[in-house]
Amino acid sequence: MEKLLGADVVSAMTEKMREQLTKMQAAPCLATVRVGEKGDDISYERGAKKRMEKLGIECKSYVFDADISNDDFMREFSRINEDESVNGILLLRPLPKHLDEKKICEIINPEKDVDCISPVNIEKVFVGDETGFLPCTAAAVMECLSFANVDLQGKNAVVVGRSLVVGKPLSMLLLNKNATVTICHSKTQDLAQVCSRADVLISCIGRAKMLTDAHVKSGAVVIDVGINVDDDGKLCGDFDFEKASEKAQIITPVPGGVGSVTTAVLGLQVIRAAKMQWK
Ligand code: NAP
Repeated sequence: MEKLLGADVVSAMTEKMREQLTKMQAAPCLATVRVGEKGDDISYERGAKKRMEKLGIECKSYVFDADISNDDFMREFSRINEDESVNGILLLRPLPKHLDEKKICEIINPEKDVDCISPVNIEKVFVGDETGFLPCTAAAVMECLSFANVDLQGKNAVVVGRSLVVGKPLSMLLLNKNATVTICHSKTQDLAQVCSRADVLISCIGRAKMLTDAHVKSGAVVIDVGINVDDDGKLCGDFDFEKASEKAQIITPVPGGVGSVTTAVLGLQVIRAAKMQWK
């Protein structure tokens, strides 16, 4: 069994990004937009900021009170959206319920939408049009598979989870690489049987250690997107790592797997956004 570490994927990506950055006229700029003080948002924002700093990408953080009015937030967001010094925008979601998140997704400039929340970019993922931006986590899974030289053509890929943020777009990206894709969800019958046919098995369900060796075919590639806390309060994935490792050929751990690759993909997309805008 080979442990596929996010750090190794990130270091290969970083080398390529640094090369691109040295050829650019100025440092690209990411704006992070957060409303309120949710722990998950703060830690993702911190991780994104740290990654941008390491790469030499500028990062501006915009933080608004949780009780900001919808009108005020729309106005502030539009200002960031129109700011020519900002190349990419990362909106921490979900927004508080009283804010019109759907409207924000509609008005974000698709050319700055580096986490793929605009319907324009989402459609491009489903159409297979590579001119748009990808959802960072789904793209991070593809980076892991590419780093590990996993050939997807004709392979059975099973994705467990069908959210619009991870599972669905990821399934389309796998399909675009000519994998035969099965999407599972909470109503799937006999999940273990479906999963155990997978050459490539990816889980994004958010259920601590739910998938075991019973779900894994011998020699399968296993990618764990889930970020959960187990009964002992420790971070863990959707797979029981020890059990799944007994059968997997390649497996990503949690922590230390896909998570860190996500912010590297964000960096990559900010660089692409700046290149597109400065052309
Ligand atoms: P989500 O919106 O809650 O979606 C979860 C999906 O899993 C749903 O499609 C749900 O099915 C399915 N599911 C839930 N329980 C299931 C079960 N027992 N059997 C089969 N399917 C089941 O979650 P998400 O936003 O996609 O995130 C999923 C996980 O990925 C979370 O742990 C999250 O923390 C993690 N995540 C990681 C990153 C990263 O950077 N690594 C980024 C984003 C998210 P239904 O549709 O039928 O309800």
